[in-house]
Amino acid sequence: MSTITAQTHAVSDHSVLVWLAGLLLIGLISWSIHYFIIVPMQRKRHILESIPYCPSLLLPQLPAEHDKIMRVDSQRLIHLSYRVNLYQLTCSCLRFRRIRRFYPANDIRRLCRHLRRELQNSGCLQNLDELTRGVISFRLRDGCYVRESLTNSEMIVGFHPRSSIVRVYTYRKSPDDPLGGPYTGAVDKFTYNHRQEIWVYGEPPPNADEILTVVETLMTACRARYPNPEKLPHIKETLQMPIPETEAAMAARARRESILAARRSTTPLQQ
Ligand SMILES: [Zn+2]
Repeated sequence: MSTITAQTHAVSDHSVLVWLAGLLLIGLISWSIHYFIIVPMQRKRHILESIPYCPSLLLPQLPAEHDKIMRVDSQRLIHLSYRVNLYQLTCSCLRFRRIRRFYPANDIRRLCRHLRRELQNSGCLQNLDELTRGVISFRLRDGCYVRESLTNSEMIVGFHPRSSIVRVYTYRKSPDDPLGGPYTGAVDKFTYNHRQEIWVYGEPPPNADEILTVVETLMTACRARYPNPEKLPHIKETLQMPIPETEAAMAARARRESILAARRSTTPLQQ
C-alpha cells in the first residue's frame, strides 16, 4: 500500500514539474515573440509613419572610397566590434538594425554611436559644416530635425510633435560679439521645455526670443501634419500646477509675438 502511495506522489510531483516546465516554455516563447518580432515591427512601423511629418537633415554623400567595411570596437563589451560602412551609413549593431536603418539614405538619424565614432576617426566629420557637427557630437536623440536661418545666426532644431523637449543647436555669443549677433562662439546645445516655457540646464541661447518664435512655428506646422492629433500633448493642460506668468515671461511673450508678426509681414507670398 505504501509503495502505491509513494508511486502516486512521484507521478503527482512529476506532473507538477511538467506543468511548470510547460508554463516556463510558453512564457519564454511569448516573451521571445514579443521582444524579437512584435517590438521591432512596431518600431519599424512608427519610424516609417513618422517620415512624412518629421523633417530631417541629409548628410552629403561621402566619396565611393568609403564604401568598405570598417571595424569599430564596442565601448561596453571587450572583444566585441561592429561592422560599419560610412558610404552606405550602415552598422551591424542592434540599435542600427532595429531602428536607425529604416531612415532614408544619408539621413542624419541613421548615425548610431559607431557610425559617429568612425566619422570622427576617419576625418570625414571635418567635411561637414559646424552646426551639423555640433548636432552629431551631442548624439541624435530626436525624431525630427530642421535647419533654420535666424536674423544674424543659424540653428538646427531637434524635436518631436509629441514631446515637450526641444533641442536647439546654435552658436554661443563670444565676449566681443554685438548683442544682436552675428555670434562667433562655439556651437552648443540648448534644451527648451516647450510645455513649461523654460530653458533647461542653464542659460538661454543668444537671440532666444527669435529662436522661440521660430520653434513655435515649426512645432505648430509639424503638429498639424501629425496623423493622430488626439495623442498630442496640450500645452499647460498637462501641468499639475499652473505656472504663474511673471512680468519677465509676459514681456518675453510680447517680444516673441512682435517678432512673429514681423516675420509674417516679411514672408514673400507663395507663387
Ligand atoms: Zn552601430
